[in-house]
Amino acid sequence: MSLDTVVAPTIHPELLSAFSQDEFNSHVMTTYGRFNLALIKGEGCTVWDTEGKAYLDFVAGIATCTLGHAHPAVIEAVMAQINTLTHVSNLYYVPVQGELAKWLVDHSCADRVFFCNSGAEANEGAIKLARKYAHTVLGIAEPIILTAQASFHGRTLATVTATGQPKYHKNFAPLIPGFQYVPYNDFAAIESAVAELDGRVAAIMLEPLQGEGGVNPGQIEYFQQVRKLCDEKGILLILDEVQVGMGRSGKYWGYEQLGIEPDIFTSAKGLGGGIPIGATLCKESCNVFQPGDHASTYGGNPFVCAVALAVCQTLERENILGNVQARGEQLRAGLQQLATKYPDICEVRGWGLINGLELQAESKINAIDLVKAAMELGLLLVPAGVKVVRFVPPLIVSELEIDRAVSILDRVLAAM
Ligand SMILES: *Cc1c(COP(=O)(O)O)cnc(C)c1O
Repeated sequence: MSLDTVVAPTIHPELLSAFSQDEFNSHVMTTYGRFNLALIKGEGCTVWDTEGKAYLDFVAGIATCTLGHAHPAVIEAVMAQINTLTHVSNLYYVPVQGELAKWLVDHSCADRVFFCNSGAEANEGAIKLARKYAHTVLGIAEPIILTAQASFHGRTLATVTATGQPKYHKNFAPLIPGFQYVPYNDFAAIESAVAELDGRVAAIMLEPLQGEGGVNPGQIEYFQQVRKLCDEKGILLILDEVQVGMGRSGKYWGYEQLGIEPDIFTSAKGLGGGIPIGATLCKESCNVFQPGDHASTYGGNPFVCAVALAVCQTLERENILGNVQARGEQLRAGLQQLATKYPDICEVRGWGLINGLELQAESKINAIDLVKAAMELGLLLVPAGVKVVRFVPPLIVSELEIDRAVSILDRVLAAM
């Protein structure tokens, strides 16, 4: 079966003709350099554009559409909840929020959950929690949080400050005080930063695998040493699981790949399978928020929680982690084969269904060139930096779809 034989579902004719890029560009802020592509329909791992052309979606809204597009379990949860109760304030108990929190606690090392609407907001919650812990438990007047170079934690002022990439800071000074950066996967560097800051480090915040920063997996030995250092010094370990969590690594959480447990971690992207939800999770030992400390109007409303719960239960019921592991191995094997065939590729790396293909620094091909050429042939991919192409398909991707993606990429590289 080729992409051309995937029968397009009925696309409303008005959608096909009504879209104008110029209109869009004259009303929406230009915060994105957008591809010349407008998507209007999705099913499984396929999306369709305004011309009715099909694309194999290995972006999944950037590691977000866990169950692909228009999954029956998601549709059912959306329809049932929207017909019952969409939103009420957190001034009242929301039973399904409690059910989702219980699922997350039962399937992680956390004891408590706070719900919000995005990854950045989940990290803001983690930062606030760590600062309150620093003031009230550790007695640090001006707490510092160490984060990694090449990290990505979001675009709000605190999380963009936490993000260790100068390109995201440009023109947004003054940044938020209380953050310092260390190289990733370098224990000597973090150990000496902690020593130098002499009792002022309240938390260390890391991604188990750096997604945006180039698909760099964390090293087991590094994370185990960092965990030990945190234990010795009373420092909190915060893990940003926004991209790698919720099954994408082949385990529910990235920290399971590293054999450690964080004190605080965050989730978003894959948690809602496409509806906006984020979560800050922590162990009882640092559960220091009290009424009035933190809040979100939308956070954990009945609608998003019912959908996220359906995503979580479907992951479990359909053993989707098994698929993530098998399809991830298949994809890496396919990409490795391309790496032996095309000298422009220098490395293939990743966990489960978050993988990166890195091009040689000297190669005249950049990640964006590959992404554009693959799009022409009906495969959506996303760069992670200048030289890395990222593969983050829905977790339900099939064996056939992986083969198809690898063969499209083969054709793209052959033509280059
Ligand atoms: C995407 C991402 C974020 C930010 O999430 P938003 O929902 O865009 O705010 C934070 N951390 C990591 C690791 C991410 O990949």
